[in-house]
Amino acid sequence: MGERSHWGWGLAERFPDRSARAALGAQVAAMLGTSELELLDPTPLADAAIPKARLEPRSGLGEVTGDREARIRHTYGRSYRDLVRGFRGDFAPAPDLVAYPRNEAEVERILDWASDARVAVIPFGGGTSVVGGVEAAIGHGFAGVVSLDLARIASVAEVDARSLAARIGAGMLGPAIETALKPHGLTLRHFPQSFEFSTLGGWIATRAGGHFATLYTHIDDLVESVRMVTPRGLFETRRLPASGAGPSPERLVLGSEGALGVITEAWVRVRPRPCFRSSVSVRFREYERAVAATRMLAQSGLHPSNARLLDAREAALNFVTGDGSHVLIVAFESADHEVGSSLDRAIEIAREHGGEPEAPVHRTESTRGSASASESWRKAFVDAPYLQNTMVSLGVIADTFETAVTWDRFETLHSNVIRAVKDAFAAMDRKGLVTCRFTHVYPDGPAPYFTYVVPGRKGRELDDWTAIKRAAGDAIAASGGTITHHHAVGRTHLPWYRTERPTLFGEALRAVKQSLDPAGILNPGCLL
Ligand SMILES: Cc1cc2nc3c(=O)[nH]c(=O)nc-3n(C[C@H](O)[C@H](O)[C@H](O)COP(=O)(O)OP(=O)(O)OC[C@H]3O[C@@H](n4cnc5c(N)ncnc54)[C@H](O)[C@@H]3O)c2cc1C
Repeated sequence: MGERSHWGWGLAERFPDRSARAALGAQVAAMLGTSELELLDPTPLADAAIPKARLEPRSGLGEVTGDREARIRHTYGRSYRDLVRGFRGDFAPAPDLVAYPRNEAEVERILDWASDARVAVIPFGGGTSVVGGVEAAIGHGFAGVVSLDLARIASVAEVDARSLAARIGAGMLGPAIETALKPHGLTLRHFPQSFEFSTLGGWIATRAGGHFATLYTHIDDLVESVRMVTPRGLFETRRLPASGAGPSPERLVLGSEGALGVITEAWVRVRPRPCFRSSVSVRFREYERAVAATRMLAQSGLHPSNARLLDAREAALNFVTGDGSHVLIVAFESADHEVGSSLDRAIEIAREHGGEPEAPVHRTESTRGSASASESWRKAFVDAPYLQNTMVSLGVIADTFETAVTWDRFETLHSNVIRAVKDAFAAMDRKGLVTCRFTHVYPDGPAPYFTYVVPGRKGRELDDWTAIKRAAGDAIAASGGTITHHHAVGRTHLPWYRTERPTLFGEALRAVKQSLDPAGILNPGCLL
């Protein structure tokens, strides 16, 4: 793999040259009906601004470094806000040290030292947080900050083929997990869009959502047991397929966002690699009917692996269609049996709501179907984050946000959110684009995922982004949605999360934090 960009999404070599960016800029300007966009270049790594470190590496803690580049590379996640600051060469919140523990004993030593020395510790997986989860915005009262990178605790240590489970180190990246499981004919089948650069520990800490639309797509459902090192010692849960013994201990770790402990490994549920796949894309003229069809599909008991409804703008943005139709992409897969009959019933449901299906594609492991709308969609899905790097260099604000809401409230939420975001554009005196797709669907509601693109005001892009974020978050909260379906809370979503969670739950969570991390050194300001 090539070198990762020090400021943007993914590999540095994938950042287009000036002429390619200028060409894209012309297309974007035409799409948004704006004048030509100014092209800027990122600040080189050598010129990035980073504060003087407050801490020196100490012996006895394993591999700990104060290296400038390591500090820069552990400063931010990969939100729009992170990209802009990194692009400008502003690494003000850089941690003082970066630690790479090789085992739990080293994690324990670092936490012991940090608790005594009042040093904040920020667990770091792949650094793809989009909610400020790895940024050292920790307030006052700390002697410094250590970013604790789990990259050295990264192997598939055991596979239990009989129970279909594997014991995996928390720092392992998505592709490495799949590569290690493949010889066993197994897959974790957890594919968030950030799969390439995010880790098992990060997924567990943020309750990540995978690419599949129904059933086992959240990491929550795939964790069988987990080990987490806390300043008070090891928090280890038992391997069990299920248990009704009180509140679930795993559920305390899932979504803990580095604030309760350092996840070191987990037994996860794996499965045979699917070999039967069937898919179809269906066009709809009316959005309401497309939503109704998707709801019926979600409530049908068919459990498609994909049931992604793209509104017309989203479909055009991703080059799936350009004729103003809304597109529902439906797919089924199995390692055990052909799934064509499930697809047939899904097509019937779509037709009952005015859908016009393309020819279905049926594939087994050894065959490859012809290119279809669903394949265009998949390619665009994986490549999309790279576009954000280019947008930043053009002064265009391009970002996404997501929620979940019950079906009875969806239409109101959809129109309220789009209106709020457009009003925020108008307040900037700008016109932009807002699109929506469903990333996941449940019998009781969808998870709508919004994307927007708008030219920022020069030098004020971060203020503009904050205003749009606030407008969208407030509209979601007022319309009965959650502030996040799978992006987590971090620091960015904290104001809404505080009002969303039950008051007593907030108190109970603070008590848990006090019990596991009495010195309050773990990721201060994140989640709590
Ligand atoms: C382009 C893009 C696409 C994305 N797509 C998706 C998506 O499809 N689905 C989705 O759910 N999310 C998505 N995300 C968000 C992000 O990738 C997820 O939140 C992911 O789970 C973070 O994993 P990570 O290893 O990068 O964790 P990091 O970003 O390093 O950390 C995230 C949080 O978890 C904590 N943490 C990390 N590792 C540990 C550990 N071992 N122990 C304790 N705490 C830890 C950190 O302190 C931080 O609070 C996307 C992000 C980007 C930039």
